[in-house]
Amino acid sequence: MDPLERLTTLFERFPGIGPRQAGRFVQFLLRSSPAIRRELIEALGGLGSGVHQCPECMRYHAGSAKLCGICGNPQRDLAKLAIVATDTDLLALERSGTFRGKYFVIGGTVSLASEKGDGLRIPELLESIPARTDAGLEEMILAFPANPEGDATLIFVRENIAPVAAISNIKITSLGRGLSTGSELEYADPDTLKSAFESRR
Ligand SMILES: [Zn+2]
Repeated sequence: MDPLERLTTLFERFPGIGPRQAGRFVQFLLRSSPAIRRELIEALGGLGSGVHQCPECMRYHAGSAKLCGICGNPQRDLAKLAIVATDTDLLALERSGTFRGKYFVIGGTVSLASEKGDGLRIPELLESIPARTDAGLEEMILAFPANPEGDATLIFVRENIAPVAAISNIKITSLGRGLSTGSELEYADPDTLKSAFESRR
């Protein structure tokens, strides 16, 4: 395979990127200066060595400490845990400045084709609940996108955590309908996220 085809094929594996867009990325890189290409190569290389997974919320971060900046922050409210689908959703909520609790990234959404939550971090979440309960956890907020995958994920996660939550007397809530249907958390504006959070039930 020639280098152009090879790069196009790699871009096509990105979420939401089709052959046409992949081709445009390659054309852009061909027109770009060598400095930009070098920066990209270095940034990609840094993903391996400079980034690791936070053992508490499971998101990827570039900090030198084991815990990420949120989990390692003693000011965060240990009584509330927001369970989100992806690292990007976590960052969207964080940017909205509404939530001062902790997060757990479940690692995706339930696929509607299989209706299964394969690969979601349910075991890791369940395992962490006793220690979180000891630390004062009172509420788990399911913060998934307002689309069919998000709804399926909500049901799936709720079913899986309900027994443990009941034993430990932890309330399970989900985002209110401040979010318009179909909206991804990462594209929602801060005010919308704020009202979805405040109207949780
Ligand atoms: Zn963390």
